[in-house]
Amino acid sequence: MKRIEIVVPCYNEEPCVAPLYDEVEKTFAGIKDYDWSLLYVNDGSTDGTLKELEQLKSSKGDKVQYISFARNFGKESAIYAGLKNSTGELVVLMDADLQHPPAMLPEMIKGIEEGYDCCGARRVSRKGEPVIRSAFSKLFYSIINNVTEMKLVQGGSDFRMMTRQMVDSMLMLTERERFSKGIMSWVGFDTKWIPYENVERLAGTSKWNFFGLVKYAWSGFIAFATAPLRAVIYLGSIIVLISAIYAIYLVVMAISHPEQNGSGFGTIALLILFIGGVIITLLGVIGEYIARIYIELKHRPIYIEKINTLKK
Ligand code: UDP
Ligand code: MG
Repeated sequence: MKRIEIVVPCYNEEPCVAPLYDEVEKTFAGIKDYDWSLLYVNDGSTDGTLKELEQLKSSKGDKVQYISFARNFGKESAIYAGLKNSTGELVVLMDADLQHPPAMLPEMIKGIEEGYDCCGARRVSRKGEPVIRSAFSKLFYSIINNVTEMKLVQGGSDFRMMTRQMVDSMLMLTERERFSKGIMSWVGFDTKWIPYENVERLAGTSKWNFFGLVKYAWSGFIAFATAPLRAVIYLGSIIVLISAIYAIYLVVMAISHPEQNGSGFGTIALLILFIGGVIITLLGVIGEYIARIYIELKHRPIYIEKINTLKK
């Protein structure tokens, strides 16, 4: 029997730990053919999350596993730790706050049995979310999809069921600044998206504020885009071009109106423009090398082979 292991990052989720277990247990009561277990990752919670986990583990035994961090390292680190310590043939990533409804699991299993490597929940309504937040998220997706090699799906959440092979592939990307959404897209594989309505969190508050999200979006962008480094070359070249046009203009003026010569202002402006353009272009060239160093440093795999799916 194949085992589905559910990885749950938890940061101050004391009131959610046990209800999540109950919900998952309820869902699996109706699922045959698959065994299941939960792997909680306590991301340095400062409330009673760890105590809750200890209690749950002692009452539920093998169904519950947990890892506990020495401090709050962030959700990305918790996801990495969870995936790295997981052993199930299928791995699910799920938030602790029940915003990722366990009731979707049967449909995800169906997707995997159809031959997909990954089934993700895609939020179709943004009910209960501030307008500005949705607007920025839209902007973020359109920039990311145009500027980087990632293709992110609007509303695609981290709530995923993945095959072991896909999880192992994600772990092959060992970069420190992790952006899981991007990594999931980068490794390839076939993803089936299942739509769902936004759900309010069960208890507690969201750990994200607006600036946190902007920072997250920015780090995702930087992790996958070398475009900003390269854009500099174009900027520098344009300035050099403008200075060349300006130089021609000065020469023409000097020949046609020799009596107006003498201030030297034009020459100085031209020199400043030209030298500025050359310096910016050279910075761009250096940026190009830095971009390559950045790419090489990540030591990402050169290719990922797809072995098989769990198609039934
Ligand atoms: N989380 C975490 N570490 C953090 C912040 C959040 O492990 O530093 C977990 C959190 O416990 C939850 C999930 O990440 O299970 C999503 O967080 P949250 O519900 O605050 O985000 P939102 O649903 O508002 O995007
Ligand atoms: Mg949440």
